[in-house]
Formats: sequence, structure tokens, C-alpha cells
Amino acid sequence: AHEGILRRQALRESAARTYARSLPIVPVRARGLTIEGADGRRYLDCLSGAGTLALGHNHPVVLEAVRKVLDSGAPLHVLDLATPVKDAFTTELFATLPPALAADARIQFCGPAGTDAVEAALKLVRTATGRTGMLAFTGAYHGMTAGALDVSGGATDTRVTRLPFPSDYRCPFGVGGDRGAELAARWTESLLDDPKSGTPSPAGMILEPVQGEGGVVPAPDAWLRRMRALTEARSIPLIADEVQTGVGRTGAFWAVGHSGVVPDVMVMSKAIGGSLPLAVVVYRSALDAWPPGAHAGTFRGNQLAMAAGAATLAFVRENRLAERASALGARMLARLQGLAASHPCVGDARGRGLMIGVELVDPDTPSAGSSAPAPAPGLAAAVRDACLRRGLIVELGGRQSAVVRLLPPLTLTDEQAEAVLDRFADALAAAER
Ligand code: PMP
Repeated sequence: AHEGILRRQALRESAARTYARSLPIVPVRARGLTIEGADGRRYLDCLSGAGTLALGHNHPVVLEAVRKVLDSGAPLHVLDLATPVKDAFTTELFATLPPALAADARIQFCGPAGTDAVEAALKLVRTATGRTGMLAFTGAYHGMTAGALDVSGGATDTRVTRLPFPSDYRCPFGVGGDRGAELAARWTESLLDDPKSGTPSPAGMILEPVQGEGGVVPAPDAWLRRMRALTEARSIPLIADEVQTGVGRTGAFWAVGHSGVVPDVMVMSKAIGGSLPLAVVVYRSALDAWPPGAHAGTFRGNQLAMAAGAATLAFVRENRLAERASALGARMLARLQGLAASHPCVGDARGRGLMIGVELVDPDTPSAGSSAPAPAPGLAAAVRDACLRRGLIVELGGRQSAVVRLLPPLTLTDEQAEAVLDRFADALAAAER
């Protein structure tokens, strides 16, 4: 079955699909960290649906919540009518928000993908402010629909002003750091205050507290606070895209919690649906100036996803999994940074909580315009493939795909974390040869 399925899908599926090309696996069963393929092989899944599976695969509380809805006779699809399931989900979600936002929050069900919630956020702030410009950052990833693409790194929409992320200021000792953050913040300030800069009057600023697809680049807390202060001073709504960083992954329930920054708008998807598709935008009620139907769509607020999501949010909160992610992530990162000491090809090991990236470099080649070593995408791909041969699923990210990303479920045990790192270290040594 394994070979046949792989062969047929290779012929039938579009050239645009992603992970399937590099991961020749046909998953048939999964539980927690483990995926079993049609060929009987087992893998430790540290991709977790790009950070979707906060509780791993098929967690009992998620299955139970979904079964309960299925067995209750409740309608599975009612557009965006209010239901007991939606009520429970919203209550649970609001309990996780920064208190200053929770006290005065509105929610719009989008969906069901993260990119649609980004569209909603952009539309919302443009409607509320009557302005069209947008401030976005290099290296950002916000999705694949037109508006979200425009604010992602590398896009060229003329309404979008591209600002430097702290990591743009590279140094030989990793990305950015405090000095990078300072330079990036000053650049942004001077641009906004310069009438000749050509920056269209901004309706909002959108950022990821930790850039995920951009290569697992945490934004320094002090920089985030600067961005909050300068947007607030200029009445520019701040949009935090927490699609990947949310639900405990970085060690705080929402990653903005590390800095204490309270955004005006939060974009959420992935883990909030407990492995089923769900996306929402949550924002200060003062921005709620868009008319009914301004962000319609048939599949908003899927009942099963809201049930799975509510169970996930409650489990993460009750079991303090954010704290767990913080402690375990720090230990994993320390071991990965140890690998950097003995492997010159590990240019940087960084992350926050259980959102970890290992950047591979060519130590003998400086990158363009910098004394930092050049990224090594070929080696990164070799490490990923060597991981897969050792039964470990990881993926690549970063502007040049030279960053190996680890996004294990927050339920990862200490023993599993050791097994993951053993396999990773072994794969690194093999790929390096
Ligand atoms: N924003 C961020 C920060 C993301 O990481 C992603 C997906 N990787 C998206 C938005 C888009 O979400 P989706 O793929 O569900 O459209």
C-alpha cells in the first residue's frame, strides 16, 4: 500500500504541495508524538502539523470532545450561528487572553485557515482606521492568500512598508541580539517620522512574536515593547500573528505574554482547533467598525473544531503546559547549543519554549555583506533526510531553508525529548560527513 499510495499521489497531486515531497511517509495511525506509516515504520513527529498539535496526535481529551459532539445529535454545520459548542469555545479562549484585552474583546470566526484570519485582521484595521498602508517585517510569514502574502517577507505590494526584523542585523554570534533589536527599532522610528520616506499612512503593523516559517526567530521582548510604544503613540493598531506561537508553544499561553505587550488584534489558528481547522481574529471592541458580512465565509467556526479546540485550550491551561514547554524547551535548546560547540556547521540554535530552530551554516563561507557564516540549505536538507531515516520528522524553514525546525507537542515527555535529540545529533553527525 505504501509504495502504491506514494506513486499515485505523486502523479495526481499538484506540483505546489509541500511536505509530501520531502517526507515519503503514508501515515495511517498516530498517537501522541508517534506516527505509524503504511509500511509499518514509526516516526517521532516533531513537525506536529507545523505547530498545530499542541497535545500531539489523537489526544484522548480531544477525541472525547469530538465524540461528544458527534453523539449529541448537535448540527455539525450552521454557518456562524451561536451554539453551545461555540459558547464554550469562546469562553475558554477569552479566559486565556491578556486580561487587558479579554475585558474588552470581540471575536470574528474566520476560516478555517490562518491565512483567512490574517485577511480579516488586515481588513479590520483598514476599515477601522480608514487608512490603507501596512507595516510588516522582512522574514515574516502570514499565509498564502493575496493580502497575507503582501505582508509576508519578500512581497512587493506598494501599500506595505517593509521594516527590518531585529535578526536582519546579523553578527557572527547568531541573529540580531540586543544590538540588532536597537538598530531595527531606530530604523522603524525614523521611517515613520520622516515625511519624505514615502510610507503610506499605516492602518496597522503586523508581526509574529517569534517568526516561525522565517526560521524560528524570536523577537526580543524589549523590541516588541518598542513596537507597541511607537504604534500606540501614532494610533496604529498592532496585530500580533499568533497562529504558530499560540497555545503555550513558546512558554507563555500567547507569546506576547513574555513581553507584556497587549496587541490590538490577535490572529489565531493552528492549535486553537485541537488539530481540526479553525481560525479566529480577536480584537479590541473599539475596532469593531466593520459592517455585518464584512468577513463572511461558509466554513466559519466548525463545531467539531471548536469542541476539539476548547478541550485543547482547557488541557493546556489546567496542566500548565506552557510552563512545561518553557522548561523542557530550555533544556532541549541547551543541548542543541552544546552541539553547536562541537559542530561548526551549527551556526545557531535558538527558539522559545518548544519552538526551536537549528540554523546550519557553511563555516568557511561568509554570507553576503556580513562576517557571519553563510546559511547551508543543502546541509539542512541532508540533516532533515538523515533525521527521517532515523525515524524523526522535522522540517526546514528560514529565508534560505537552512533552519531545521522542531515543533514537538507540548505533551512531550523528558524521555521522548532525549530520544528526539539523540536522533537529531546522530543525523547531524551523519549529514556532516
Ligand atoms: N501566520 C503564521 C505565523 C503561520 O505560521 C502560518 C502558517 N504556517 C499562517 C499565518 C498561515 O496559516 P495557514 O497555513 O493555516 O493558512
